[in-house]
Amino acid sequence: MNRILSKDLKNHSGEDVLIKGHLFQKRIMGKINFLIIRDKEGLIQVVLKDKNEIDKIESIMDESVLYITGKCIYDKRAINEAEIHDPKIEVVSKVKEPLKIEINKPEIHANLDTLFNNRAVVLRAPQKRAIFKIQSIMVQAFRDYAIENGSTEIFPPTIVGTATEGGAELFEIKYYDKKAYLAQSAQLYKQIMVGVFEKVFGTAHSYRAEKFGTSRHMSEFIQYEWEMGFIESYMDIVNSAIDIIKYMKKNIEEKCSDEIKLLNIELPTLPKKIPVIKFREAQKLIKDKKGIDNTSEIDLSPMDEKMISEITKEEYQSDLIVITHFPRVKTAFYSMPDPEDEEYTLSFDFILRGEEILSGSQRINDYENLIESIKRKSLNPNDFESYTEIFKFGMPPEGGFGMGVERLTQQFLSIENVKEASLFPRDVKRITP
Ligand code: ATP
Repeated sequence: MNRILSKDLKNHSGEDVLIKGHLFQKRIMGKINFLIIRDKEGLIQVVLKDKNEIDKIESIMDESVLYITGKCIYDKRAINEAEIHDPKIEVVSKVKEPLKIEINKPEIHANLDTLFNNRAVVLRAPQKRAIFKIQSIMVQAFRDYAIENGSTEIFPPTIVGTATEGGAELFEIKYYDKKAYLAQSAQLYKQIMVGVFEKVFGTAHSYRAEKFGTSRHMSEFIQYEWEMGFIESYMDIVNSAIDIIKYMKKNIEEKCSDEIKLLNIELPTLPKKIPVIKFREAQKLIKDKKGIDNTSEIDLSPMDEKMISEITKEEYQSDLIVITHFPRVKTAFYSMPDPEDEEYTLSFDFILRGEEILSGSQRINDYENLIESIKRKSLNPNDFESYTEIFKFGMPPEGGFGMGVERLTQQFLSIENVKEASLFPRDVKRITP
């Protein structure tokens, strides 16, 4: 007999079926007895009457693996519109000790540390599973969009000999008899690959020794990486990134309605026209509308990001805002200066529901200008040789972005801490499980 999954069960009414899954919940109440079985797609209700079968299951703990054959009965009120009657149960893998956290409740009450300590079990909870189901649909949408738009997927290395961006956030590792580093981003490699494929994308792991336990930083995270050659303007990249985010939303709506319902969330509002505002204009808006004067600062603080989001939500009914033209002193040396005012760059950040999710820019594609830009930051060009070298060999006008996979999931699903959007989060204190 072939296994039938929860979502498909209603199409087999009247048939004898085999279901397989974990025991999610047991309600042995005497006259009416139910089992709820959890499979990869959802839940199935099993109605138990036979005393032998009840005895078999009495001492079996939640999450044990069961194979059950029985009659499938259509019932509109049942979970997934069908249930199993007259079951014969086979216990395939018995749970050996009670779970430390109950995962079959509408709300799981535990602090983050307890949740992460018991991650392997907690991830089985339908509310947690839903986060990662949606995340996987988002990644798939990104991949589909990128391929459809003529990009090629690449797999950059994460062990690197030199640091592209340098800084104190670098993880040093022992590499045979040398020092090596964990990549902070795929910057160099995606730019190299523009010379090969013109448009490239990937999802790459990034490592940063973030010293503080914030609700938006981890030591290891994933970035949607995108780089595009032969562009006319930095706005080509901005528009592609907006389209990608809208495409992800559309895919979630189409493929994850159950998960959205379960999480009881609203996806971000993304109107036809997403506001695109220059950095200095954003500061001025904050000053005018919120009375807080940060106009002499060279970057937006997390508080600024929240305020500008509130302002644009009210004015444009958009949860997403794009801020462009960050000051040159703040942006990475490889960002292209704005030809109209060289103190600023053709760079951009995307802020979704008050938090940065994406950073990008048009890049300097001329060797001499790049060396000049490195020196301007009081850095030594020799330290960046493996990066700058590719610009001796012809590079088209190009640019790209990095967008945090977990950050985007966090903001899409209104999750408080980014770590909840990572399967096995790593931070300054946590490296297990
Ligand atoms: P922030 O200002 O929030 O610290 P950043 O400017 O250092 O971020 P970028 O180097 O521009 O970040 O990285 C691109 C994207 O990667 C960010 O927009 C964010 O979505 C994500 N990201 C960056 N650092 C982290 C981190 N430590 N943990 C999780 N996601 C991160």
